[in-house]
Amino acid sequence: MRHADLDLLKGTLEAKLAALGANYDKRADIVIQQTPDALDQVQLAAERTLAVSLLNRELQMSRRLKGALQRMDEGIYGTCLACEEPISVKRLQAVPWAELCLGCQERSDMAAAAGLGADAAHTVELEVA
Ligand SMILES: [Zn+2]
Repeated sequence: MRHADLDLLKGTLEAKLAALGANYDKRADIVIQQTPDALDQVQLAAERTLAVSLLNRELQMSRRLKGALQRMDEGIYGTCLACEEPISVKRLQAVPWAELCLGCQERSDMAAAAGLGADAAHTVELEVA
């Protein structure tokens, strides 16, 4: 991979990581809010559930972004973690935190979809996008 490509992807990863950090602060407010009103409590509980699921998603994304940056430091970025073949630059430009080449990702998605049902397939699709 060209150095310019790597720099660009690193910038993208760092920007996404910084944006995730900014969201954490906002959501923390929602999570710790308390109110004596029952209706508000229901509303807050719903928001909390949503916030937690978003946080989980962001935590997962944050781990992927950090993992990608770490692989850049280690000089193994862009290598599929499953088959150790290079991941195409085109794929990395679309999904800079990709851990797997397209073939291994598709196999992994299919395995997840087969093992956990349609809902899981939907989740995988969202995470990859
Ligand atoms: Zn692979």
